[in-house]
Amino acid sequence: MAAQVNSVVGTHVWVEDPGVAWIDGEIVEADGEEIEINCTSGKMVVAKASNVYQKDPEFPQCGVDDMTRLAYLHEPGVLHNLQCRYDINEIYTYTGNILIAVNPFRRLPHLYDNHMMGQYKGASFGELSPHPFAIADSAYRLMINEGISQSILVSGESGAGKTESTKMLMQYLAYMGGRAVAEGRSVEQKVLESNPVLEAFGNAKTLRNNNSSRFGKFVEIQFDQSGRISGAAIKTYLLERSRVCQVSDPERNYHCFYMLCAAPEEDVGRYKLGNPRTFHYLNQSNCYELDGVDDSKEYLATRTAMDVVGISSNEQDAIFRVIAAILHLGNVEFAKGDETDSSEPKDDKSRFHLKTAAELFMCDEKFLEDSMCKRVITTRDESITKCLDPNAAAVNRDALAKIVYSRLFDWLVNKLNSSIGQDPNSKNLIGVLDIYGFESFKTNSFEQFCINLTNEKLQQHFNQHVFKMEQEEYTKEEIDWSYIEFIDNQDVLDLIEKKPGGIIALLDEACMFPRSTHETFAQKLYQTFKDHKRFSKPKLSQTDFAISHYAGEVTYQTEFFLDKNKDYVVAEHQALLGASKCSFVSGLFPPLPEESSKSSKFSSIGSRFKQQLQALLETLNATEPHYVRCVKPNNLLKPGIFENSNVLQQLRMWGRFSILAPDVLNGCSDEITACKRLLEKVNLKGYQIGKTKVFLRAGQMAELDAYRTVVL
Ligand code: ADP
Ligand code: MG
Repeated sequence: MAAQVNSVVGTHVWVEDPGVAWIDGEIVEADGEEIEINCTSGKMVVAKASNVYQKDPEFPQCGVDDMTRLAYLHEPGVLHNLQCRYDINEIYTYTGNILIAVNPFRRLPHLYDNHMMGQYKGASFGELSPHPFAIADSAYRLMINEGISQSILVSGESGAGKTESTKMLMQYLAYMGGRAVAEGRSVEQKVLESNPVLEAFGNAKTLRNNNSSRFGKFVEIQFDQSGRISGAAIKTYLLERSRVCQVSDPERNYHCFYMLCAAPEEDVGRYKLGNPRTFHYLNQSNCYELDGVDDSKEYLATRTAMDVVGISSNEQDAIFRVIAAILHLGNVEFAKGDETDSSEPKDDKSRFHLKTAAELFMCDEKFLEDSMCKRVITTRDESITKCLDPNAAAVNRDALAKIVYSRLFDWLVNKLNSSIGQDPNSKNLIGVLDIYGFESFKTNSFEQFCINLTNEKLQQHFNQHVFKMEQEEYTKEEIDWSYIEFIDNQDVLDLIEKKPGGIIALLDEACMFPRSTHETFAQKLYQTFKDHKRFSKPKLSQTDFAISHYAGEVTYQTEFFLDKNKDYVVAEHQALLGASKCSFVSGLFPPLPEESSKSSKFSSIGSRFKQQLQALLETLNATEPHYVRCVKPNNLLKPGIFENSNVLQQLRMWGRFSILAPDVLNGCSDEITACKRLLEKVNLKGYQIGKTKVFLRAGQMAELDAYRTVVL
């Protein structure tokens, strides 16, 4: 972004501040590089000229609804504009055709009702206030008018409002593509009601969001020739499995567990449930209730949503029976058995939960116990049964709970897709992507690695798109664009994805080699990438590695990489549940094809995820993209608080989005020769004049302004 400031005394500027990121003030003295500023707060600051930015002289008090209308598209200007608008509940702002959405953390009345949808229907883009409906409307119209599939990519950190924005986009598309007369349960109704179903089973309270989606989601809405919704496909990515067995305070497990515990007495009794505080999978955290959420109502609402999307009441019973079984399973504790290193259920209480879990799974109790306490090892010519010690048995129990839950979630997604229906003839699609943003925590594991890979891929897609748009713009304006440089993150992608030799490939190799540990894996990485400029080994660690991502450097801990990458079902678990008398449960564990059960063919989560991403990117590449960038204004999840540094950090992660700046020059476009003469007069070098716009180099706007001040 343009830096140079016009350092004339009296100029209003922004200057960096350690507390609030940027404060404004007036230059009182300028001595070459050193500038003294009298801040509005009363503070006197001395700063380097390169850290001082010109304030917009004509900035309206309530901000501008499109950033490109700012005279200066620099960081403090963008931030100030977002804040001014946020203060008056204008949570949406455009940057060209990108929508920025700042989470209000409160329901804004009438902002999303039918009347509002009616307003946006047919309004041209930019005519009304910025809104997700406008983005959806523009996508819908482009699809209809030009016959090109569209996609809307919603991004932002956890709790920024991606899922809520996605729902509004879907709501508008359902409104535009819905049928005038509802014929029973319409496709669009099912599409919308798929959200609460997915949220019940795939969302949980985390530190960052009380309703955090623990999976990525791409919903592809299919339209027929006349623009009516004719089907939809939901794809989900990487559900967080570990949460089923492991919750840390003050987070919660998946919503469905608490809903079921709060269900009507009849259901609670049937599944032998009770207070969530009595279940190990829930009581590792002290958080049971959510502010403003009544789990018993949510249970009924989820049941209703399940009705709408076509999940039969028998299926619903089976689903909740499995959820209850998982809770009981978690309460089976193990103690040392008679043989050395063996284990058995610890006491009567554990036996009770074991028996109940077996009843609910409709499988054999003894078989269930053995599948947790023993392991059959098959060698070439014999099978040996090995006993597991209490610790190993508990790990095994958790593996069973996780695989059942993840199969149940996949079942739900498949069911939603078959019930909504697919339109194989549809050539008009609008895809909406709601996927985790870039993550960098104190400790980062395999999940963050996959999430950040996703973001690298999406960033590349964005870069390519912006580059293409710039080229088109410059060509249209007939200016020479040979100097624009294409910012590319292919090197990071190669580091991670390349086959053979990338990190995922090396991880797969490590997983297949029985003697590998995370230490040997880390050593292999250090060796292979010692000269890679995107890779580094942190000095004080022998097992961590760091990647320099487009959004910043992230250090990953390799400890659980191998385990988390292995995608397998313990053969005993497969056999146990595949033989369940409940067809729903056995259906979750269909028999494995001959070959893969024999050879212990390795399947890797990382590689599968990489392929899923590849497919997603191919889909996106065939569409015209639209972007919604969500911003979380504070970490307290409270309305009315806009924390500068917090927001800045998020703006910075989007890296190059300010590139759409050329539009900033709208306005000085009317008289080409007048412009040219003017610019020549002030001796500006390197700018280019297009057919309708002038393209300045970074900093030249301030130069021009300085000239104005001097002349005046
Ligand atoms: P993300 O999907 O990015 O993690 P969510 O979409 O779940 O975040 O939003 C987190 C919470 O913020 C929501 O549960 C809701 O309380 C609030 N929120 C987000 N967007 C809006 C909005 N447009 N209006 C009102 N509340 C919102
Ligand atoms: Mg979400």
